[in-house]
Amino acid sequence: MIKTQKNGIMPTGVFTPARTTRRVIPGRIAAMVATLLLLASFFGCVSRPAEPKRYERVFLDVFDTVTTVILYDTGERSAGERFDQLHALLLEYHRLYDIYNAYDGLNNLYTVNQNAGKSPVAVDERILGLIDYAKEMDVLTDGRMNIAMGGVLDLWLQYREAGLNDPGSAALPPMAELEAANAHSKPGSIVVDRAAGTLSITDAQTQIDVGAIGKGYAAQKATEAMEQSGVTSMLLSIGGNVCSIGTRPDGTPWQVGIQDPYSDGNLCVVQVSGRSVVTSGTYERFYTVDGKRYHHIIDPETLLPSTYYDSITVISDDSALADALTTGLFCLPLTQGQALVASLDGVEALWVLPDGTQAQSNGFSAYLVP
Ligand code: ADP
Ligand code: MG
Repeated sequence: MIKTQKNGIMPTGVFTPARTTRRVIPGRIAAMVATLLLLASFFGCVSRPAEPKRYERVFLDVFDTVTTVILYDTGERSAGERFDQLHALLLEYHRLYDIYNAYDGLNNLYTVNQNAGKSPVAVDERILGLIDYAKEMDVLTDGRMNIAMGGVLDLWLQYREAGLNDPGSAALPPMAELEAANAHSKPGSIVVDRAAGTLSITDAQTQIDVGAIGKGYAAQKATEAMEQSGVTSMLLSIGGNVCSIGTRPDGTPWQVGIQDPYSDGNLCVVQVSGRSVVTSGTYERFYTVDGKRYHHIIDPETLLPSTYYDSITVISDDSALADALTTGLFCLPLTQGQALVASLDGVEALWVLPDGTQAQSNGFSAYLVP
């Protein structure tokens, strides 16, 4: 399932190398140094530090979406190594957080779902970290972003896929089935045991779905790992879940286009340095029943696709938070969502309402490219 890309990475424009500063050295010494430099450079002994160049790579095999990476590096070989390092890391996260496939020798979220109501599963620390964080986000969003809703979300997924395959007989999941599944959507049924290194689902009918947060959490961790290994200028977009390291080499911020929910163009362009930009929209994954669109973000209150907005963008220095919030905010009325965003340091949001009007948090406009 390849999704369309949301937020676009903007063309990086002209690369301007940093200027070297000139030193004043008194007469004769300067002349000697100049002669030496001339000779040295003539014989190829002086190697000037290479200017960083722009490299780009696309991965199609992680998180069922298109991943684009832009990296400024001094050479093709070292850029290639960075890309390979990032790709390997993202593949690891993809496999760990995959709820649809098993992998040889790996206990992932699929394994955990398979063991619901049976036994705790020993899992990688990165799974425990994600689940702990998702539970925090559940509380923060007042239950609107709930990873224990796997049963309800799976019903919607099955009906959506059937409806896309055969639009003539597209139907909605019956409310009775949704309600029955929702009786098993309690986050408390998912138990993280840090000491034992296990994850368990105590209710046999509860299923985990990390579609709302897995990509953002992985993007954040992978970006931090790249930064720790010395990358100073990078832009990563996992299906529009955008993370940045530093600025472009000329010191200008990265520019990220926010998808217009009603056209192929941009709604606006924001600029960020070291921050994340995440957008969720009703236009991403949907199907049509009796001429009406039903999208992929399900309001836990109604068990139906949320109807408050057509798109939400969140800017934050943490991509996991931004990802969880886009989904959670989608299911919160505007005044409540605005209060939540205002309560969070360094978090800004843009809401597009179904009539096309927009609302912004107080500091959002500071990120807009005029
Ligand atoms: P995308 O995955 O397109 O970036 P989101 O981050 O908003 O968009 O995540 C949507 C996905 O999250 C859905 O496909 C589904 O798997 C899951 N999901 C939908 N509604 C909820 C919800 N209220 N709480 C938790 N997960 C949800
Ligand atoms: Mg999300």
